[in-house]
Amino acid sequence: PARMERADIVIVGSGHGGAQAAIALRQQGHEDSILMLSRDRTPPYERPPLSKEYLAGDKPLERILIRPPSFWEDKGVAVELGVNVSEVDAMAREVVLGDGRRIGYRKLIWAGGGDPRRLSCPGSDLAGIHSVRHRMDVDAIRADLETGARRAVVVGGGYIGLEAAAILRKLDCEVTVLEAQRRVLNRVAGEELSGFYEAEHRRQGVDLRLETAVERIEGKDGRVAAVITDAGEAIACDIVVVGIGIVPSVGPLIAAGAAGSNGVDVDGYCRTSVDDIYAIGDCAAHANPFADNAVIRLESVQNAHDMATCTAKAIMGDKQPYEALPWFWSNQYDLKLQTVGLSLDHDEAVLRGDPEARSFSVVYLKEGRVIALDCVNRVKDYVQGKKLIEARAEIDPELLADGEVPLKELL
Ligand code: FAD
Repeated sequence: PARMERADIVIVGSGHGGAQAAIALRQQGHEDSILMLSRDRTPPYERPPLSKEYLAGDKPLERILIRPPSFWEDKGVAVELGVNVSEVDAMAREVVLGDGRRIGYRKLIWAGGGDPRRLSCPGSDLAGIHSVRHRMDVDAIRADLETGARRAVVVGGGYIGLEAAAILRKLDCEVTVLEAQRRVLNRVAGEELSGFYEAEHRRQGVDLRLETAVERIEGKDGRVAAVITDAGEAIACDIVVVGIGIVPSVGPLIAAGAAGSNGVDVDGYCRTSVDDIYAIGDCAAHANPFADNAVIRLESVQNAHDMATCTAKAIMGDKQPYEALPWFWSNQYDLKLQTVGLSLDHDEAVLRGDPEARSFSVVYLKEGRVIALDCVNRVKDYVQGKKLIEARAEIDPELLADGEVPLKELL
């Protein structure tokens, strides 16, 4: 097809946000041209399986595509892959690609997500050091495993690092996890949950080191050979998997004058401070009603998806502020964690059920109100707990702690 020089709506990014924006626009009755531009070389695919079934080899690429490849053509959504948007000319209402090509827009939706933060220590450019953000990253890990890599060091005890550790154990690797903080999941979960997952990974044979940072990486023939910790210890390894967060991919927007210091700032309708430019997903800093309107970025499928829908509706004249209840999940070993709400500022955490029996929830309260739940192998608590959060329910912690009483009876 001829390359487009202008589209009614240009979407930057083909992840969960970008893909859903196009889908939702068509669902809302948008009939004019849509062009999706992405650095990715693969049609829109899901990222969560990258540290789960796709890494394990249990799901091939076809099964993690957001839609079958023919879908985009059928819906009249032009998709250009392998292109980098390097500049936004807000005055001319054009995006500029790496090769200088300019493409005009009426509305621009920026769904750039983030680039994986990389190690900056000596040795961090050796072969065998991997991020887990793109399909190609995981293909590279799998290629190393196929050629005999067996000893892995995972840097970072967040969800992605821990999920990768669980899969690498399943694939029979020796796994060491290094976490610089004093507990895993420090940024996203309460102490109880961290402690549970620490014990679980150790039980599964992971050598988990807390309060341990990477000092440098030593190589042999250009490939990683050992990670040297800040305690001076050398951990011999064949691969290093790095899960230490992302840097929001918003450079061209900020250069175009959009406000933002941690990603790009958006209002309740996902509008940036620049006319006709919206931003959604991992890169969009917004006032979240489930965090007392604190300005935060959320890195979740729910957030990317719901912001995309909110934006499509706003563009089509059905303005509804973004107020979706946050939810998230993580799979490690046989543990299915489901999270709802934001526990960020909780002042009380109540345990329900039995961690020993591998089925329990942590209910987070703030000033007596239920603000979030982490549910491990406990779907009912997750489903019913949602309602407690939505109702901003004030519930006696002693009642919450009784795992025999369904949460719906407490509302
Ligand atoms: P992304 O999906 O990152 O998409 C960004 C897109 O923008 C990419 O296509 C990128 O190539 C493109 N891009 C960026 N800059 C430019 C540019 N300048 N020019 C052209 N293209 C550009 N969430 C959950 O809810 N549950 C989970 O279990 C879960 N597991 C995860 C596991 C892994 C390994 C990862 C990486 C993420 C996981 N997430 C999970 C998070 C979730 O995948 C993200 O929140 C979601 O992908 C965000 O969507 P997005 O559209 O904002 O960004």
